[in-house]
Amino acid sequence: MSLTVGIDSGSTATKGVLLEGSTLLRRFLCPTPFRPALAIEQAWHELSDDLAERPFLTLTGYGRQLVDFADKQVTEISCHGLGARLLMADTRTVIDIGGQDSKVIQLDEDGNLTDFLMNDKCAAGTGRFLDVISRTLGASAEQLDALVAGVEPHAITSMCTVFAESEVISLRSAGVAPEAILAGVINAMARRSANFISRLTSQGPVLFTGGVSHCQAFTRMLSSHLGADVNTHPDAQFAGAIGAALIGQRQRGR
Ligand code: ADP
Repeated sequence: MSLTVGIDSGSTATKGVLLEGSTLLRRFLCPTPFRPALAIEQAWHELSDDLAERPFLTLTGYGRQLVDFADKQVTEISCHGLGARLLMADTRTVIDIGGQDSKVIQLDEDGNLTDFLMNDKCAAGTGRFLDVISRTLGASAEQLDALVAGVEPHAITSMCTVFAESEVISLRSAGVAPEAILAGVINAMARRSANFISRLTSQGPVLFTGGVSHCQAFTRMLSSHLGADVNTHPDAQFAGAIGAALIGQRQRGR
């Protein structure tokens, strides 16, 4: 079976996979640097190093046009649905929340795309919002679950990233526990995401992908605001890269 590589050059993180059939043989993940092409080159090098033959390379994501050695370039929307179905075969709705955008994608029973919505105009409702607020409080996004476990969320009223940052600073100086502020921020963002997602008629089963899907507290709150089960997968941040590698397989099969 032929090997394919998919690389997703995202605004915040660069992800890549080496795929054989439906098995992920290698994974690559790094923050997208000042020059995104450098991360694409590094990903390609690490994923295709030592192989007997050159794998087919498909690029997706914001930076997909930045290098000239790819065999194919595809949009993220076409990749995410395919990647999600490899991670959870009966997925009908994909919710993807990354560093600077969020999207919701609907699939029919056979996995074909039927509808999608994308929000890339506003940082609120994306990983950027969580990153900025966590940093304001001196925490990192990776620490969120440990910090907010069992904590009652404090109400947050501002959803604009800039105003929320100053609200968080005021709350902290008023003596509100930083854990309760963080839980409140996650809850406010989950409510906002649920409103966005509800603009498409939701169909289950739902798979949550993108970097923010690592945050279990956010996933729980999103599920509660949506009133629906929300599934995640340890490889969910790679969904776009997996979809790109699957498109490469189809191309090779022709
Ligand atoms: P993009 O494709 O837009 O570059 P990704 O889907 O790779 O974005 O996700 C990157 C985002 O995921 C970043 O904003 C990062 O802070 C966030 N992220 C990564 N791990 C976690 C975590 N454990 N909790 C919350 N957010 C996380």
